[in-house]
Amino acid sequence: MYAAEGDAHGGNGRHISGCERLVTEERVFSILAMLWQRAKSHERGSARTINIRVDAVDPASIRRIPPLTIESEIYTTVSAARNASYALLAKGGISKIAVRRALEAISSLPRSMRGAMVVDALSGERLDALGERGVRISHMDCENEEEFAKFLRNALALGQPAADGGPQKAMAKLREAVVLASKAASAEGYAGELCWSDDPYYPTGYVAHGRVYCRITPMKEPGNPVGGRVLFLWPGTPLAETIDYWQRQPVLVTREFCESM
Ligand code: AMP
Repeated sequence: MYAAEGDAHGGNGRHISGCERLVTEERVFSILAMLWQRAKSHERGSARTINIRVDAVDPASIRRIPPLTIESEIYTTVSAARNASYALLAKGGISKIAVRRALEAISSLPRSMRGAMVVDALSGERLDALGERGVRISHMDCENEEEFAKFLRNALALGQPAADGGPQKAMAKLREAVVLASKAASAEGYAGELCWSDDPYYPTGYVAHGRVYCRITPMKEPGNPVGGRVLFLWPGTPLAETIDYWQRQPVLVTREFCESM
């Protein structure tokens, strides 16, 4: 689902909300109602254009993957938090220049993109030619909602930032981001990710590299409605194949895999 304030096709619609789910057919109707509700009563406003696309997926084509391991770091200022992202991404081999270019690219966006920029992990060059749309990772979900919630609750208990709008919001944001980041990380050529939310009242962002997802607070000033996402790829990665995987391969993040890790 992708919801905007105005005419999303004309490019004038301010982004309100987006959501990706992968569910059994019996649940589709209730999920559609949830998506409608979410688009109409979002903190960012009530959507006037809502695109909901439903694709049938062959269960045999679903790839099951483990979630990334969740860590948290809390800083007192945005600049300290953003500085920390250099060190974290460097652990995954991503160059300083690539991180600097990614931070600058997100910070200078006039408004949020629908998807993510794809950037070379060493040179920092943007690799996709998808402009303001970017790459939207889709066709993913968690396999077992209750188990997954338990896994997230444990992670949040380890490092709960105060200014996030409460545990419920933090759980919902974390659920979506960990599913997305885990799918992103399972693609060929993936090096890492940098993200913070469009939600003006949610300053926690994250970086991911290897098998680690590290929440970082605060990645932006409160009240800032612009977020962004950068996916880093190693040089030489087959770009079209990786983007196709992100956009189309059905993936379920499965908690059980995590327990055996
Ligand atoms: P959010 O965390 O949902 O506020 O999203 C933050 C930013 O991530 C957005 O401004 C988009 O640029 C990007 N984004 C959101 N959803 C997706 C997605 N499904 N795939 C890729 N990028 C996304």
